[in-house]
Amino acid sequence: TTTDFALSTQGLGVTYGKFVALADMDLNIRRNTVHSIIGPNGAGKTTMFHALTGRVMPSSGSITLNGKDITHIRDDERVRHGIARSFQVTSLFPTLPVAENLRLAAQGKTPWQALAPWRSAESNRAALNTAAEVMERLRLTGVAHRPAGELSHGQQRRLEVGMAMASHPSVILMDEPTSGMGVEDIEEMKALIRDLGQDHTVLFIEHNMGIVMNISDTITVMRLGRKLVEGTPATVRADPEVQRAYLGNM
Ligand code: ATP
Repeated sequence: TTTDFALSTQGLGVTYGKFVALADMDLNIRRNTVHSIIGPNGAGKTTMFHALTGRVMPSSGSITLNGKDITHIRDDERVRHGIARSFQVTSLFPTLPVAENLRLAAQGKTPWQALAPWRSAESNRAALNTAAEVMERLRLTGVAHRPAGELSHGQQRRLEVGMAMASHPSVILMDEPTSGMGVEDIEEMKALIRDLGQDHTVLFIEHNMGIVMNISDTITVMRLGRKLVEGTPATVRADPEVQRAYLGNM
């Protein structure tokens, strides 16, 4: 039934002018699983994330989040319905401490709203609790008082995930969570994604096949705006179409 799925799309399509970037996308993401989206450059992966978060409006089809049709709901409203996207560094306030970054994220603030002191003491307390929980889960408690801009690369990337988690999402979208990382940071991020998958639905775009094969419950392979193949890592790896598309690079 549809309630087994945290997030699904029905015939989702996005066009940029006459160009079809996403077509006929039926996606069913099971609750509390790790699901990756792979595909060559221009396959439409980013466009699909934009459509899921409300950054672009689909030209056809619909999106269902936790049983609710969110197709026509604004991006900030979608966050309240339980979907969050982890963005790269741009979402951090580099001069503010880690804990403060997370407190602001928990209150749904953007950088230009960050200094407005209009929230109640109660809402501040709730946000501080959320920040503490997120730091614990992401192993950032030890750097709670360090300015975000002074963290190591790996810590900053974990904080970006934390900024998404601060809204208590059920579904977390991640754009290439390990891009540009060294081996140790990659291992830590893999462990974090697996851990989050215990009680969240994680959907991520990734180019590193080793990571995809290692931590995904399900993989969707896209090409030219469409779904090419979908299944477990073993199924996807064995698929002749995928092997052709990747010219053996997997
Ligand atoms: P990559 O792995 O390179 O990030 P992707 O799978 O995320 O690729 P998209 O970024 O979704 O692919 O792009 C899909 C197609 O849509 C590409 O051919 C791209 O050139 C085109 N495209 C993306 N954004 C726009 C836009 N704003 N206007 C016109 N065409 C666009």
